[in-house]
Amino acid sequence: AKPDPILRVDKIVRQFGGITAVDVEHLEVQRGIITALIGPNGAGKTTFFNLMTGFDQPTSAGKGGAAWNFNGKQLTRTGAAAIARTGMVRTFQLTKALSRMTVLENMMLGASNQPGERLALSLFPPAWRKREAEVHAKALDLLARFKLDTKKDDYAGSLSGGQRKLLEMARALMSDPTMIMLDEPMAGVNPALTQSLLGHIQSLRDDGMTVLFVEHDMHVVRHISEWVVVMAEGRIVAEGPSDTVMSDPAVIDAYLGAH
Ligand code: ATP
Repeated sequence: AKPDPILRVDKIVRQFGGITAVDVEHLEVQRGIITALIGPNGAGKTTFFNLMTGFDQPTSAGKGGAAWNFNGKQLTRTGAAAIARTGMVRTFQLTKALSRMTVLENMMLGASNQPGERLALSLFPPAWRKREAEVHAKALDLLARFKLDTKKDDYAGSLSGGQRKLLEMARALMSDPTMIMLDEPMAGVNPALTQSLLGHIQSLRDDGMTVLFVEHDMHVVRHISEWVVVMAEGRIVAEGPSDTVMSDPAVIDAYLGAH
Protein backbone atom coordinates (compact mmCIF):
# COMPACT_ATOMS: atom_id res chain seq x y z
CA ALA A 1 0.00 0.00 0.00
CA LYS A 2 1.11 3.57 -0.67
CA PRO A 3 2.55 5.19 2.46
CA ASP A 4 0.06 7.55 4.09
CA PRO A 5 1.50 8.70 7.41
CA ILE A 6 -0.99 10.13 9.87
CA LEU A 7 1.84 10.96 12.32
CA ARG A 8 5.31 12.15 11.31
CA VAL A 9 8.03 12.82 13.85
CA ASP A 10 11.41 14.47 13.32
CA LYS A 11 14.35 14.87 15.69
CA ILE A 12 12.65 14.66 19.04
CA VAL A 13 14.89 14.44 22.08
CA ARG A 14 13.91 14.14 25.73
CA GLN A 15 16.60 14.03 28.39
CA PHE A 16 16.21 13.56 32.13
CA GLY A 17 19.43 14.84 33.67
CA GLY A 18 22.13 12.80 31.99
CA ILE A 19 19.73 10.16 30.64
CA THR A 20 18.51 10.42 27.07
CA ALA A 21 15.07 8.80 27.29
CA VAL A 22 14.01 9.57 23.72
CA ASP A 23 16.14 10.43 20.69
CA VAL A 24 13.96 9.79 17.64
CA GLU A 25 15.48 10.92 14.35
CA HIS A 26 12.47 10.14 12.18
CA LEU A 27 9.31 8.09 12.53
CA GLU A 28 6.15 7.75 10.51
CA VAL A 29 2.99 5.99 11.66
CA GLN A 30 0.81 4.87 8.77
CA ARG A 31 -2.88 5.65 8.76
CA GLY A 32 -5.48 2.99 9.41
CA ILE A 33 -3.25 0.15 10.59
CA ILE A 34 -2.14 -1.31 13.92
CA THR A 35 1.49 -0.49 14.72
CA ALA A 36 3.26 -2.00 17.72
CA LEU A 37 6.02 -0.14 19.54
CA ILE A 38 8.28 -2.65 21.27
CA GLY A 39 11.60 -2.60 23.12
CA PRO A 40 13.18 -3.40 26.45
CA ASN A 41 12.24 -1.74 29.75
CA GLY A 42 13.46 1.82 29.82
CA ALA A 43 13.68 2.06 26.02
CA GLY A 44 11.67 5.28 26.07
CA LYS A 45 8.30 4.03 24.80
CA THR A 46 6.16 5.66 27.48
CA THR A 47 8.18 8.86 27.29
CA PHE A 48 7.58 8.89 23.54
CA PHE A 49 3.82 8.56 24.12
CA ASN A 50 3.98 11.36 26.69
CA LEU A 51 5.76 13.64 24.22
CA MET A 52 3.37 12.90 21.37
CA THR A 53 0.29 13.61 23.47
CA GLY A 54 1.58 16.74 25.21
CA PHE A 55 1.94 15.16 28.67
CA ASP A 56 5.67 15.88 28.54
CA GLN A 57 7.78 18.39 26.61
CA PRO A 58 10.84 17.56 24.53
CA THR A 59 14.27 18.88 25.52
CA SER A 60 14.75 19.69 21.85
CA ALA A 61 12.61 19.03 18.85
CA GLY A 62 12.62 19.38 15.10
CA LYS A 63 14.08 21.97 12.86
CA GLY A 64 12.51 25.40 12.83
CA GLY A 65 9.86 24.23 15.29
CA ALA A 66 8.57 21.45 12.99
CA ALA A 67 8.95 18.37 15.12
CA TRP A 68 5.77 16.44 14.77
CA ASN A 69 2.85 16.58 12.48
CA PHE A 70 -0.42 14.81 13.12
CA ASN A 71 -3.00 14.57 10.37
CA GLY A 72 -1.74 17.74 8.71
CA LYS A 73 -1.26 19.77 11.91
CA GLN A 74 2.01 20.80 13.52
CA LEU A 75 1.78 19.82 17.18
CA THR A 76 5.04 21.17 18.53
CA ARG A 77 4.30 23.24 21.66
CA THR A 78 0.63 22.26 21.63
CA GLY A 79 -0.98 21.42 24.98
CA ALA A 80 -2.39 18.00 25.86
CA ALA A 81 -6.04 19.06 25.60
CA ALA A 82 -5.51 20.72 22.23
CA ILE A 83 -3.68 17.65 20.93
CA ALA A 84 -6.57 15.44 22.01
CA ARG A 85 -8.93 17.72 20.08
CA THR A 86 -6.92 17.14 16.90
CA GLY A 87 -7.95 13.48 17.16
CA MET A 88 -4.94 11.81 18.79
CA VAL A 89 -5.72 10.26 22.17
CA ARG A 90 -3.86 7.88 24.48
CA THR A 91 -4.33 5.55 27.38
CA PHE A 92 -1.93 5.05 30.26
CA GLN A 93 0.12 2.08 31.43
CA LEU A 94 -1.34 2.64 34.88
CA THR A 95 -4.98 3.39 34.29
CA LYS A 96 -6.18 6.87 35.14
CA ALA A 97 -9.81 6.06 35.86
CA LEU A 98 -11.00 8.19 38.74
CA SER A 99 -11.93 5.59 41.32
CA ARG A 100 -14.29 7.78 43.39
CA MET A 101 -16.42 8.51 40.34
CA THR A 102 -18.79 6.10 38.66
CA VAL A 103 -18.00 4.37 35.40
CA LEU A 104 -20.51 6.59 33.59
CA GLU A 105 -19.11 9.78 35.16
CA ASN A 106 -15.65 8.74 33.97
CA MET A 107 -17.04 8.38 30.47
CA MET A 108 -18.69 11.81 30.54
CA LEU A 109 -15.30 13.33 31.39
CA GLY A 110 -13.89 11.85 28.19
CA ALA A 111 -16.17 13.89 25.94
CA SER A 112 -14.12 16.66 24.45
CA ASN A 113 -15.69 20.05 23.94
CA GLN A 114 -14.41 22.47 21.39
CA PRO A 115 -13.04 25.59 23.11
CA GLY A 116 -15.91 27.86 23.91
CA GLU A 117 -18.53 25.24 23.14
CA ARG A 118 -19.54 24.79 26.76
CA LEU A 119 -19.96 28.55 27.23
CA ALA A 120 -21.81 29.00 23.95
CA LEU A 121 -24.16 26.15 24.76
CA SER A 122 -24.73 27.31 28.33
CA LEU A 123 -26.14 30.58 26.95
CA PHE A 124 -28.83 28.52 25.29
CA PRO A 125 -30.01 25.84 27.73
CA PRO A 126 -31.99 23.70 25.25
CA ALA A 127 -28.87 23.27 23.10
CA TRP A 128 -26.85 22.40 26.19
CA ARG A 129 -29.40 19.80 27.28
CA LYS A 130 -29.39 18.31 23.77
CA ARG A 131 -25.60 18.13 23.73
CA GLU A 132 -25.57 16.55 27.18
CA ALA A 133 -28.17 13.99 26.10
CA GLU A 134 -26.07 13.11 23.05
CA VAL A 135 -22.93 12.68 25.13
CA HIS A 136 -24.83 10.55 27.62
CA ALA A 137 -26.23 8.32 24.85
CA LYS A 138 -22.81 7.93 23.33
CA ALA A 139 -21.30 6.97 26.69
CA LEU A 140 -23.96 4.29 27.17
CA ASP A 141 -23.36 2.96 23.63
CA LEU A 142 -19.64 2.67 24.22
CA LEU A 143 -20.13 1.05 27.63
CA ALA A 144 -22.38 -1.53 25.99
CA ARG A 145 -19.78 -2.16 23.30
CA PHE A 146 -17.17 -2.84 25.99
CA LYS A 147 -19.64 -4.83 28.10
CA LEU A 148 -19.41 -2.34 30.95
CA ASP A 149 -23.01 -1.16 30.74
CA THR A 150 -24.05 -3.18 33.77
CA LYS A 151 -21.30 -1.42 35.74
CA LYS A 152 -22.24 2.13 34.77
CA ASP A 153 -23.24 3.18 38.28
CA ASP A 154 -20.39 1.39 40.06
CA TYR A 155 -17.36 3.29 41.26
CA ALA A 156 -14.50 2.90 38.77
CA GLY A 157 -12.39 1.87 41.77
CA SER A 158 -14.44 -1.31 42.12
CA LEU A 159 -13.52 -2.57 38.63
CA SER A 160 -10.95 -5.29 38.00
CA GLY A 161 -7.65 -4.36 36.32
CA GLY A 162 -8.92 -5.60 32.97
CA GLN A 163 -12.22 -3.76 33.27
CA ARG A 164 -10.31 -0.55 34.04
CA LYS A 165 -8.35 -1.04 30.82
CA LEU A 166 -11.63 -1.43 28.95
CA LEU A 167 -13.04 1.67 30.62
CA GLU A 168 -9.96 3.65 29.68
CA MET A 169 -10.26 2.55 26.08
CA ALA A 170 -13.97 3.32 26.01
CA ARG A 171 -13.40 6.73 27.57
CA ALA A 172 -10.68 7.55 25.02
CA LEU A 173 -13.24 6.90 22.27
CA MET A 174 -15.66 9.51 23.63
CA SER A 175 -13.91 12.24 21.63
CA ASP A 176 -14.10 10.35 18.31
CA PRO A 177 -10.34 10.09 17.81
CA THR A 178 -8.69 9.24 14.50
CA MET A 179 -5.65 7.75 16.27
CA ILE A 180 -5.39 5.99 19.60
CA MET A 181 -2.15 5.26 21.45
CA LEU A 182 -2.44 2.40 23.93
CA ASP A 183 0.29 2.00 26.56
CA GLU A 184 0.47 -1.70 27.49
CA PRO A 185 -3.26 -2.33 27.13
CA MET A 186 -2.80 -6.00 28.04
CA ALA A 187 -0.71 -5.54 31.21
CA GLY A 188 -2.44 -6.82 34.32
CA VAL A 189 -5.39 -8.18 32.37
CA ASN A 190 -6.56 -11.70 33.11
CA PRO A 191 -6.53 -14.20 30.21
CA ALA A 192 -10.32 -14.18 29.90
CA LEU A 193 -10.34 -10.46 29.12
CA THR A 194 -7.19 -10.53 26.98
CA GLN A 195 -9.01 -12.03 24.00
CA SER A 196 -11.78 -9.51 24.24
CA LEU A 197 -9.30 -6.61 24.49
CA LEU A 198 -7.50 -7.88 21.39
CA GLY A 199 -10.83 -8.05 19.60
CA HIS A 200 -11.62 -4.48 20.59
CA ILE A 201 -8.28 -3.22 19.31
CA GLN A 202 -8.84 -4.96 15.98
CA SER A 203 -12.34 -3.57 15.70
CA LEU A 204 -11.00 -0.02 16.22
CA ARG A 205 -8.74 -0.61 13.25
CA ASP A 206 -11.63 -2.11 11.27
CA ASP A 207 -13.55 1.11 11.98
CA GLY A 208 -10.73 3.03 10.29
CA MET A 209 -8.83 4.19 13.35
CA THR A 210 -5.04 4.25 13.51
CA VAL A 211 -3.69 2.30 16.48
CA LEU A 212 -0.21 2.58 18.01
CA PHE A 213 0.35 0.36 21.02
CA VAL A 214 3.17 -0.53 23.39
CA GLU A 215 3.32 -4.19 24.29
CA HIS A 216 5.74 -6.60 25.92
CA ASP A 217 3.89 -9.81 25.03
CA MET A 218 5.34 -10.86 21.69
CA HIS A 219 2.48 -13.24 20.95
CA VAL A 220 0.08 -10.33 21.14
CA VAL A 221 2.33 -8.19 18.93
CA ARG A 222 2.58 -10.95 16.33
CA HIS A 223 -1.12 -11.58 16.47
CA ILE A 224 -2.55 -8.11 15.88
CA SER A 225 0.07 -5.69 14.56
CA GLU A 226 0.74 -5.03 10.91
CA TRP A 227 3.86 -2.94 11.46
CA VAL A 228 6.41 -3.13 14.29
CA VAL A 229 8.74 -0.38 15.48
CA VAL A 230 11.61 -1.40 17.77
CA MET A 231 12.96 1.14 20.24
CA ALA A 232 16.09 0.79 22.34
CA GLU A 233 17.84 3.44 24.42
CA GLY A 234 15.51 6.08 23.05
CA ARG A 235 16.20 5.36 19.39
CA ILE A 236 14.27 3.59 16.68
CA VAL A 237 16.57 0.66 15.92
CA ALA A 238 14.40 -1.38 13.55
CA GLU A 239 11.00 -1.30 11.94
CA GLY A 240 9.06 -3.15 9.29
CA PRO A 241 6.14 -5.43 8.60
CA SER A 242 5.29 -7.46 11.67
CA ASP A 243 6.24 -10.85 10.17
CA THR A 244 9.64 -9.59 9.04
CA VAL A 245 10.62 -7.82 12.24
CA MET A 246 9.32 -10.53 14.54
CA SER A 247 11.31 -13.22 12.74
CA ASP A 248 14.52 -11.21 12.43
CA PRO A 249 17.12 -13.02 14.57
CA ALA A 250 19.06 -9.80 15.20
CA VAL A 251 15.95 -8.10 16.58
CA ILE A 252 15.01 -11.13 18.64
CA ASP A 253 18.49 -11.52 20.13
CA ALA A 254 19.23 -7.89 20.75
CA TYR A 255 15.93 -6.47 21.83
CA LEU A 256 13.40 -9.10 22.66
CA GLY A 257 15.31 -11.85 24.42
CA ALA A 258 14.07 -15.40 23.99
CA HIS A 259 10.44 -15.49 22.85
P1 ATP B 1 8.83 0.27 30.21
O1 ATP B 1 8.72 -0.74 29.12
O2 ATP B 1 9.50 -0.25 31.43
O3 ATP B 1 7.55 0.99 30.50
P2 ATP B 1 9.70 2.48 28.54
O4 ATP B 1 10.26 1.98 27.27
O5 ATP B 1 8.33 2.99 28.54
O6 ATP B 1 9.88 1.37 29.67
P3 ATP B 1 10.37 5.02 29.70
O7 ATP B 1 9.46 4.82 30.85
O8 ATP B 1 9.94 5.97 28.65
O9 ATP B 1 10.69 3.61 29.02
O10 ATP B 1 11.79 5.44 30.26
C1 ATP B 1 12.90 5.78 29.44
C2 ATP B 1 14.05 6.26 30.28
O11 ATP B 1 13.76 7.55 30.81
C3 ATP B 1 14.36 5.38 31.50
O12 ATP B 1 15.75 5.35 31.68
C4 ATP B 1 13.68 6.10 32.63
O13 ATP B 1 14.30 5.83 33.85
C5 ATP B 1 13.82 7.55 32.22
N1 ATP B 1 12.72 8.40 32.71
C6 ATP B 1 11.44 8.35 32.29
N2 ATP B 1 10.68 9.26 32.92
C7 ATP B 1 11.51 9.93 33.77
C8 ATP B 1 11.33 10.99 34.69
N3 ATP B 1 10.16 11.59 34.87
N4 ATP B 1 12.42 11.39 35.40
C9 ATP B 1 13.61 10.81 35.21
N5 ATP B 1 13.86 9.80 34.37
C10 ATP B 1 12.81 9.36 33.64
